[in-house]
Amino acid sequence: MKPFTYEKATSPAEAAAAAARNKGAKFVAGGTNLLDLMKLQIETPAHLIDINDLKLDRIETTANGELRIGALVRNTDLAAHGSVRQDYGVLSRALLAGASGQLRNQATTAGNLLQRTRCSYFYDTNQPCNKRNPGSGCGALGGVSRQHAIIGVSDACIATHPSDMAVAMRVLDAMVDTVRPDGTTRTIPIADFHTLPGTTPHIENALAPGELIVAVTLPRPAGGVHVYRKVRDRASYAFALVSVAVIVQPDGTGRVALGGVAHKPWRVEAAERAMARGAKGVVSVLLADARTTADNAFKVPLVERALASVLSEAKG
Ligand code: SF4
Repeated sequence: MKPFTYEKATSPAEAAAAAARNKGAKFVAGGTNLLDLMKLQIETPAHLIDINDLKLDRIETTANGELRIGALVRNTDLAAHGSVRQDYGVLSRALLAGASGQLRNQATTAGNLLQRTRCSYFYDTNQPCNKRNPGSGCGALGGVSRQHAIIGVSDACIATHPSDMAVAMRVLDAMVDTVRPDGTTRTIPIADFHTLPGTTPHIENALAPGELIVAVTLPRPAGGVHVYRKVRDRASYAFALVSVAVIVQPDGTGRVALGGVAHKPWRVEAAERAMARGAKGVVSVLLADARTTADNAFKVPLVERALASVLSEAKG
C-alpha cells in the first residue's frame, strides 16, 4: 500500500476545504469499497479525510414531509428505519438485497452511491481498463462480459454501477445534497448524479473535486405498492445480473428503474407511459437502444421476465 496522510474532519465545510487543499485526497467513512481498492493500489489517495465524526448519521422528516437521510447513515439503519419501511419500502428492500449483514452495518448512504464498479477487469491491474487507467483500453470489450452493461454503453467502457440502493433512490426521485470546498451547497437530482461512461469512464458522477455529500432527501411518500427484485447468480452476497425497482399505483400507473444494466441506475420516464402494455411495452422503450454482447444479450429477456413478474406481484 502506498503511504498516505490522514486527518479527521470536524465539519462538512472543513472536510470539503481539506479535500480541495490536498491534491489526491479522498473522504473515508465506512471504507467498505475504498479500503479494498487501496489494498489493490487501484485507489492511491495521498491523503485520507475521515468524515465519521461529522454527525451526518440522522434520518429526519422535514417540514415539507420529505425524508432527509444523513450521508453517514449506515445501510442497516436505513433499511430498518420505521419511515423507510412504511413509506419507502422499495428502498428498504433494495438495501437488504445488497451485500452482507456485516457490510450493511458498516457501509454508509453516501458511500453506497459512490461505490465503484465490480467489473473484474477494473480490479485486475494486469488488464487494460479505461476507468482505472484512462486510455489503456477495455478488457471487457472482447473479453468476458456476462455481468456487464447493455444500455448507455460506449466504446470505452461497458461497466455497470453495482448499487441496489441507488436503483431504489432513482425510482423514488431522491435528491443528493452536497457542500463544496467554498462552503456553498447544492442539490443534485439523482437522475443527474451518476454519469454514463462516454469517453471518460473514470468520471462516474457529477461531484466536483472536493465536493462532499451531506444527505440524500426523498420526496414526500409516493404511495403505491413498492417491489424490488434482484436476479443474481446466488441467493446472497452477489451483485445483480439485473434488478428491477417498481412503484405501482392503484390506477395502474407507476415507475420503473433497473439495476445491473448500465453505468448508472437506469430509468426512462417515457417508458412508464407504456405501463398499460405490460412488461413488454415498458421494456421496448426502456431498453430501446440496448447494445449487448454475446455474453450478456440474455439480460434483455431477463429484464422483461423480471419486470413481468414484479408487475404481477405489485398488482396483487
Ligand atoms: Fe474498465 Fe469499464 Fe472496460 Fe471494465 S468495462 S475493463 S471498468 S473500461
